Amino acid sequence: MLKSHTCGELRKEHAGQQVTLAGWVNRRRDQGGLIFIDLRDRWGLIQIVADAENTPDSHAVANNVRSEFVLQIKGTVRIRPEGTENAELETGEVDIVAEEITILNASKTPPIYINQDGNEKEVERMRYRYLDLRRPAMQHNIITRHRTIKFIRDYLDEQSFVEIETPILFKTTPEGARDFLVPSRLQPGKFYALPQSPQQLKQLLMVAGYEKYFQIARCFRDEDLRGERQPEFTQLDMEMSFVDREDVMTINEGLALALCEEIAPEKQLLSKPFPRLKYQDAMEKYGSDKPDLRYELEAIDVTEIAGKSGFVVFNKNVEAGKAVKVIRAPGLIRNPDDQSKPLSNEKLKKLMRSLEDLIKTVGAKGLAWMALPLEEEGEVKGPIGKFFTVDQKIALFEQIGAEPGDVLLFTSDEPEIVYAVVDKLRRHIADLLNLADPNVLAFAWIIDFPQFHWDEENQRWDPSQHMFTAPLPEDLELLDTDPGKARGSQYDMICNGYEVGGGSIRIHDRELQEKIFPLIGQTMEHAKEQFGHILEAFEYGVPPHGGMAWGIDRIAMLFAGAPNIREVIAFPKTQTGSDVMANAPSFPEPGQLEDLFIASTVEEEDEDDE
Ligand code: ASP
Repeated sequence: MLKSHTCGELRKEHAGQQVTLAGWVNRRRDQGGLIFIDLRDRWGLIQIVADAENTPDSHAVANNVRSEFVLQIKGTVRIRPEGTENAELETGEVDIVAEEITILNASKTPPIYINQDGNEKEVERMRYRYLDLRRPAMQHNIITRHRTIKFIRDYLDEQSFVEIETPILFKTTPEGARDFLVPSRLQPGKFYALPQSPQQLKQLLMVAGYEKYFQIARCFRDEDLRGERQPEFTQLDMEMSFVDREDVMTINEGLALALCEEIAPEKQLLSKPFPRLKYQDAMEKYGSDKPDLRYELEAIDVTEIAGKSGFVVFNKNVEAGKAVKVIRAPGLIRNPDDQSKPLSNEKLKKLMRSLEDLIKTVGAKGLAWMALPLEEEGEVKGPIGKFFTVDQKIALFEQIGAEPGDVLLFTSDEPEIVYAVVDKLRRHIADLLNLADPNVLAFAWIIDFPQFHWDEENQRWDPSQHMFTAPLPEDLELLDTDPGKARGSQYDMICNGYEVGGGSIRIHDRELQEKIFPLIGQTMEHAKEQFGHILEAFEYGVPPHGGMAWGIDRIAMLFAGAPNIREVIAFPKTQTGSDVMANAPSFPEPGQLEDLFIASTVEEEDEDDE
């Protein structure tokens, strides 16, 4: 090795030792006779001193080094002179008196500052990802991800799971997204599909008798990259035979708890065992099937009182069978700069207008609100207070548990819009009031999903999860009589507003599987063409089975405390699916398309990816 120690490990006890270090120049400070270099490697930072008088050779070299040069340093560990210790550095009680400095490689002035937080535009960071990844914060993220995956592998191995790789070049394995296709050169005109998940293959592995399978699997979905999506992402994929829903949930909850203890011991688990919420209850209370449970902000149904008020919009909606719901934003009227005072009328109205704009993006027509005064005798503000009698207001506040200074946000519309509004408002209010504690992990299970959602456009049922999910045994008959009421055996694990993973007990009976196809608008002919292999396999002794898949990027993001999944992916893609460092996707070389028997219909042009 070109180094005897790392830059992060030297302490007082090492004083007097001869060491060899190697790493990058984090910063260099020239004080004339003395040059200080902070040398950085994966393990930390340490100060190097080159002294013109005592070590003139190393001083001469230090004169020429700049940020991000790669150096090897031979020197002696010294306890820093009193008063010059740096409490912010783990190695801050010592430094290295450099007897010899070798420049292993020079560096141009880097386009982004590695020794500062990444405040550049994200696209700049992605363009120079190898520099961005050099930052300690990014190294922490990537290493947290590594530790997460390593722990998962060891834990599942202990529990007799077998890791089995499945092909990337395969056939459509539907998870409801568009497939990425790969043309076959050897079979002109035919294409492979990249797997959206190893769903069918893992079920076939159950038919094959492996009983407990897992894989750290790359999945591909050609979707518009909204928010938290990447065209390729990593799953912990799992499948087990001879299990019911309870078994799969228990094993996965055990893994999640062990992971938290190992990877994020500093974080507090909100509840253990994980609470379980029925899908419908989650939607009614939180408007989402992945609510952030670190804060309450529940939607409270006030249809009864609101229907009796003098507010015509509510009266009409209630008559039409629509609900009126309220979110109580605690203390939202308080001035953030001085909590003892309320916001001015003008600021309050501005805030309410911004909330209204926000919920209009999900289809709301407007925002009705009431703001409670800070003092008992003050007046209720807002456009709809006057439509409620004093008694109605008292009853309303009592039902909601309202306190002085709260702002009540009302929503009333079709259920889908109410859900979306509640979800938007909860997340936004929690942000405004800082209600989501970054040190808390709020895991929970969502169960009893509907088996299908009605697809109005295509006039058919869409599976809530995928077509291999079994209905709950007690709802089997509903498939014939009222498919919309049937619940699936799906379970999702959620944490802090994200779906960490999901799975289900599968259909293991060919007849039942064949019943699903027409419901979801697939002809038997098409289904046989796409999934003939699985239907055939289902005639040869299929164990009851079920499984789950976790989003590794999401769980690593939560453990690393990162704001989005791109921060835990070494080389992520932009919103337009580009790698701006390597310039992918790119136009093929001349002749490549002909080899594949593909005619291009697109003119080549230079595009700037932002
Ligand atoms: N294949 C499913 C998914 O990717 C997970 C599962 O059902 O196991 O969401």
